[in-house]
Amino acid sequence: HFNFCAGPAALPQPVLERARDELLDYQGRGLSVMEMSHRSAEFVAIAEQAERDLRELLAIPDNYRVLFTQGGATLQFASVPYNLLGRGGSANFLHTGIWGKKAIAEARHLFGAAPVVASSEANGHSAVPRQADIALSDDAAYLHYTANETIGGIEFDYVPQAVRPDGTEVPLVCDMSSSILSGPLDVSRFGVIYAGAQKNIGPAGLTLVIVRDDLLDQACAEMPSLMGYKAQAEAGSMVNTPATYGWYLAGLVFQWLKHDIGGLAAMDALNARKAEKLYAAIDGSGFYSNPIAPLNRSRMNVPFVLADDRLDKAFLAESERAGLLNLKGHRSVGGMRASLYNAVPEAAVDALIDFMADFERRNG
Ligand code: PLP
Repeated sequence: HFNFCAGPAALPQPVLERARDELLDYQGRGLSVMEMSHRSAEFVAIAEQAERDLRELLAIPDNYRVLFTQGGATLQFASVPYNLLGRGGSANFLHTGIWGKKAIAEARHLFGAAPVVASSEANGHSAVPRQADIALSDDAAYLHYTANETIGGIEFDYVPQAVRPDGTEVPLVCDMSSSILSGPLDVSRFGVIYAGAQKNIGPAGLTLVIVRDDLLDQACAEMPSLMGYKAQAEAGSMVNTPATYGWYLAGLVFQWLKHDIGGLAAMDALNARKAEKLYAAIDGSGFYSNPIAPLNRSRMNVPFVLADDRLDKAFLAESERAGLLNLKGHRSVGGMRASLYNAVPEAAVDALIDFMADFERRNG
């Protein structure tokens, strides 16, 4: 079976196998990682190794802190403004789809104004705003955007610059839930990067935050203390009990990326190949289509529709019987969506393309 789920997503098979082998007895300690104290030497070693491997994979500079938190990307929609707006100013947003819209709604709910300073709404979220279209507000405290919109399948092809009209550069904040670790990244361009784990990192329940350390001192006083980046950084992400098992599995995923895949440049090449193949198959048919501008087509989430949506049900039933799981599009947009996260092997894409061609022959 191949799993194309948008999240929680497929995990690498070798990671699941190792977790199975270690489930009852972690390296002869006589207990499961799930049963360990988060403050035990064994677990602290697991946690520190995971952070070291992640730092190596993403070449995270020393002046950034890595937090292994909870609450999902959705809690970060609130945590980011709480942590960054303590000295006033407004959160500025780029709006390119449903997840960005939710982040905007949460900032407005908590802080009132949250200007959208560039949007792809006018083109139906089919092409991201260009740098020249982005005009920050005079009081911008930071600029937030969503690198990859998981539902719309639209991805930024560049890292925006966040400069106020007076020329001051402000921190760039990015929701990378569905694209982090899909390839190399220049972390130094960002103030805060966050991601729910359940796509390219590990199981749901863990949330990664990477924050530049000069941003740890501008939080709002009334913020719930568990949401504070500074407190979490100082406590090694153990202000309370962390998601220990998810953290361990994330560590196994980082090891897999390093040793089985060969790092993020290799992952990047593989992801490019997978996505190019599938988009080429869609574009080459008169039966399937994808509406996103080629420059902004997501490598991780490929939405597509059939020429006749009365065939959707048959497509989904038959694809599932063929072992191609979770191809149904998001309930808000319909159609199909194939998520091609890191753990989805090239063979899965080949099998999907073969199935699509066969379905088209029989129904097109
Ligand atoms: N942001 C993006 C880009 C997502 O894809 C998702 C979930 O799919 C979220 C935010 C919300 O994440 P969570 O469910 O971890 O709160």
